[in-house]
Amino acid sequence: MEKSEEEKIVIVGGGICGLATALALHRKGLESIVLEKSEKLRATGACIIMQPNGWRALHQLGIASKLRQTALPIQSGHYITVKDGKHTGLPVGNGGECRCLRRSDLMKTLAEELPPNTVRLGCKVVSIKVDANTSAYSILHLHDGTMLMPRVIIGCDGVNSVVASIVGLNSSRHFSTCAIRGVTHYQTLHPFGTAFYLFDKDGVRLGLLPINHNDVYWFLTRKLTSTDSMVSKDQRLIKESTVEAIKGFPNHITEMINNSDVDSLHLTDQMRYRAPWDLLRTKFCKGTVTLAGDALHAMAPFLAQGGSASLEDAVVLARCLSQNMGISLDPTGMKAARAALDQYAKERKMRVFWLSLETFVVGTMHDTSALLVRGLCIITLIILFRDKIANTRYDCGRL
Ligand SMILES: Cc1cc2nc3c(=O)[nH]c(=O)nc-3n(C[C@H](O)[C@H](O)[C@H](O)COP(=O)(O)OP(=O)(O)OC[C@H]3O[C@@H](n4cnc5c(N)ncnc54)[C@H](O)[C@@H]3O)c2cc1C
Repeated sequence: MEKSEEEKIVIVGGGICGLATALALHRKGLESIVLEKSEKLRATGACIIMQPNGWRALHQLGIASKLRQTALPIQSGHYITVKDGKHTGLPVGNGGECRCLRRSDLMKTLAEELPPNTVRLGCKVVSIKVDANTSAYSILHLHDGTMLMPRVIIGCDGVNSVVASIVGLNSSRHFSTCAIRGVTHYQTLHPFGTAFYLFDKDGVRLGLLPINHNDVYWFLTRKLTSTDSMVSKDQRLIKESTVEAIKGFPNHITEMINNSDVDSLHLTDQMRYRAPWDLLRTKFCKGTVTLAGDALHAMAPFLAQGGSASLEDAVVLARCLSQNMGISLDPTGMKAARAALDQYAKERKMRVFWLSLETFVVGTMHDTSALLVRGLCIITLIILFRDKIANTRYDCGRL
């Protein structure tokens, strides 16, 4: 064990949330290290729709203006039923800033702002031992036998988190819907301007958002099939299965899929989520170990809020740690760290519960073929979530 690691905050996972948390801590003068199991930072899934609440968090992290240069603002939304060509407005862009960022741009920008050597690649965490009753540090074990004893451990290790079980969150569930994502480059200007379009036909939904004037991000959701796990391994098959799924869609949409960049294609065959009621009944921390991002609240992309919510976590967590750890009176700093994590849990619990619940209800409505269940989902949405963009108005506050 390196002696110096005792003082540090260790973040497990170098995805969007892990990097954002490290950056938020750095901005507050707190040192951390990020342990990432892969040999390089990965940006799976081409793009991410960043909603107004996500932009507020990016602003606090000090990288909003840099990222704005990479993507157009989305100014309107259109929902189109393919069978009759009927258009309805979607409340996108009306509630504030919405842009479609390339995941690689977001990851690169976050990583570039971190002090050198913050991210350690090829470091897989295999287990954590927590003694919640004593003032001892938790022990973190890496795949190569290394042990670390950091002051605070933050699990940002995604939906299959090893840290989550320590905190009491066990299995995640999945919808029987799958998602395919890709990017299409147009040599001349694409025809979509700055609008978000969502096409719907018999449960197959294709959404598209311009990244800039030449590149368009698109995603498709449809029922999972028995071959999807095999299809997900071959990008040519992903394209074929997408073209197959959108039979009867307008020609310019089929053309967009046919012309998409094969390397950008990705099929997620299990849209995983944490049940909202699990979030309600779990403490978000144990000892000085906590969770953030998908490790805490994986929520499937029906509201496109997972990434924005992860950035909110990063800002709130760094704020709580800096407020408490700066005034530490106990020699080990354990009490201060625990107070910080309790404050974080208190601030985040209901926010991530409501987001997860709304996502769960929307997801179940799309996922189910039972009319009764669908009806109940619609009633719940009308009663609890009538304002569809209320979740995007959330402000995580100052860092
Ligand atoms: C199909 C789809 C579309 C989506 N679209 C949107 C969208 O438009 N807008 C939006 O806001 N959100 C969207 N999301 C959600 C968003 O992608 C996630 O919420 C976000 O990426 C979560 O980031 P994270 O850092 O918490 O987790 P991840 O991105 O999963 O990162 C976890 C990291 O931890 C590493 N790791 C895992 N285990 C270990 C270990 N044991 N040791 C060390 N490292 C480890 C992994 O290698 C990985 O790098 C979408 C999700 C899906 C599936």
